[in-house]
Amino acid sequence: MARDKTLIVGNWKMNLDMHEASLYVHQLAKLVKNHRDVEVVLAPTALTLQSLSLQVNYRQFKLAAQNFYWRDSGAYTGEISASQLRGIVQYVIVGHSERRHIFHESDKDIRAKVQAAIRNHLRPILCIGETAGERADGETHDVLHDQLIGGLANVTSEELEQIVIAYEPVWAIGSGQNAHPNDVSAVIRTIRSQIKHLYGPRAADAIQVLYGGSVKAESASDYLALPDVDGLLVGGASLEAHTFNDIIKKAHKGSSLAKNIEGGL
Ligand code: PEP
Repeated sequence: MARDKTLIVGNWKMNLDMHEASLYVHQLAKLVKNHRDVEVVLAPTALTLQSLSLQVNYRQFKLAAQNFYWRDSGAYTGEISASQLRGIVQYVIVGHSERRHIFHESDKDIRAKVQAAIRNHLRPILCIGETAGERADGETHDVLHDQLIGGLANVTSEELEQIVIAYEPVWAIGSGQNAHPNDVSAVIRTIRSQIKHLYGPRAADAIQVLYGGSVKAESASDYLALPDVDGLLVGGASLEAHTFNDIIKKAHKGSSLAKNIEGGL
């Protein structure tokens, strides 16, 4: 997907049961106006994915899995594979900091998941970000570099086109302490220059990069106005349909504003 489309992803984490999820989608579907310049992606729990896949109009919303196992099938009790998610979701979240830190997922696991997603024609949203300690020690760039190399090893230039990167500083996730837009801009420029080093200037320019970390309706525009930011990964503020719709509306405004500026209006 080209960068002219703003991506707004709602990560519900382990919230909303089947009934609440269905009600939410019903409400959001009534609120959200379809815009060609905004893609809205919902990442509910695995439990509700199948029923929501029957409820959503894929032209209005896409679905994402929050997690999956990298093997396609076999004796892996409790797991769901990317091949089983095909036809239900279009995106998968990979390397979220809660998976890295609570469930101890390594770069090797994350790399295998990126490969499994690509193999199954699902778009991986690869999350990378530094902890507060790493930031304080001035290690942000090195950490992001290692996470990029770790997640993208074995990904070809052609496959890279399917990948979305989400910059999510760990200290900003769920903390109410969102990163300053100037800092986000600087870090995302670094991410693009690391991609340039790995895949060349065209890939660096083409790759979609999102920001995530305590985004609220009030702060969404501050990030969406940044030329290097192509969308948002939203946790807490995506849990209520009206609030999430407020963010989606900002994305539409953000896209048209950017286009107007580009078009010299
Ligand atoms: C997330 O879960 O990816 C996230 C950014 O959460 P929050 O918006 O609640 O910080």
